[in-house]
Amino acid sequence: MADAPLLSVDGLTAGYNGVPAIRDLSLDVRAGEVVALLGPNGAGKTTSLLAMVGLVPLLGGEVRVLGAPLGRRRPHQLARNGVLLVPDDRGLFPSLSIREHMRLAARTRDTRREQEVLERFPALLDLGSRRAGLLSGGEQQMLAIAKALLARPKVLIVDEMSLGLAPKIVQDLLPMIGRLARADGIGVVLVEQHIELALQVADRGVVVNHGRAVLAEDAAALLADRDLVEEAYFGAG
Ligand code: ATP
Repeated sequence: MADAPLLSVDGLTAGYNGVPAIRDLSLDVRAGEVVALLGPNGAGKTTSLLAMVGLVPLLGGEVRVLGAPLGRRRPHQLARNGVLLVPDDRGLFPSLSIREHMRLAARTRDTRREQEVLERFPALLDLGSRRAGLLSGGEQQMLAIAKALLARPKVLIVDEMSLGLAPKIVQDLLPMIGRLARADGIGVVLVEQHIELALQVADRGVVVNHGRAVLAEDAAALLADRDLVEEAYFGAG
């Protein structure tokens, strides 16, 4: 079925030492769609993402990737199936240059593909030999996404890309993710603290609070009813 979800999360319950940090989360992501996972600090957002890539074990529910259960597959096996996590620390090596990161990330040496991907991030194009540690926060985030794109992902799971970035930079980066998703047919799940900006880019939003999904709606509906979102966000749960 053309419209089948790339990633399907059904009743996901996951946590640490057998204690759930997130319970009963469900969401679907199809090609070209962006789903924003919103919620206050400690709500269980990162745990949800980690569980989606098998880095935190499921205590209940199911994650299906291209229709097949995640089961015991490890993150590197998932990456081979096209599901990639971009962690909030961006996973970069400060002493390696942009080009070196791209080379490391490419599974086979393919300079044309590296160039193609870099061309989508004009801000990085002229900085190929600059070390990641010397890049601005926004440039580092672009490199983290560029690196992920090299693997031609079907699903990108992006944890708080705006962490530590000025709001003005986030205003550019989030729409860029939306454009990438739509242009390449990539499904994106992103965790964001910038509620409004995230909902402007997303197709759907899910608000988690106190380890539970308390609201799941079309992004446009959530944008139109900020009271509903705030109640979900700040409510006692
Ligand atoms: P933030 O926005 O602050 O990053 P979050 O919504 O991503 O928060 P999580 O990081 O998923 O929330 O944390 C959810 C709960 O799980 C918190 O109570 C946190 O203390 C707990 N937790 C997170 N990581 C671990 C861990 N490795 N071991 C035990 N408990 C953890």
